[in-house]
Amino acid sequence: MALPPSRLSHTTLPQLPTMVRGAAKAQAQAKAAKNAPKEAKSTIPGRAAALKLTCHICRTPAPSYKTLVIHYEAKHPKETVPSEASLTS
Ligand SMILES: [Zn+2]
Repeated sequence: MALPPSRLSHTTLPQLPTMVRGAAKAQAQAKAAKNAPKEAKSTIPGRAAALKLTCHICRTPAPSYKTLVIHYEAKHPKETVPSEASLTS
């Protein structure tokens, strides 16, 4: 009450940063660990939705166009890889 606000923050600041940084780091790590399983779960429907690309030659499903290109190069090296637009549209 007797101390002005500016002087109060001056006296509390030197102690806080180290304490807050350590706590914030631990909290961030705990938060990241908590969020990790959620994010992993959320990718499952996303992956299923992305499985719409299929090889037109052997009908092997590909999760992405990149994978399909790799598949073409591996399984059908003599075939021309179709364009991404022709596969997704
Ligand atoms: Zn194929």
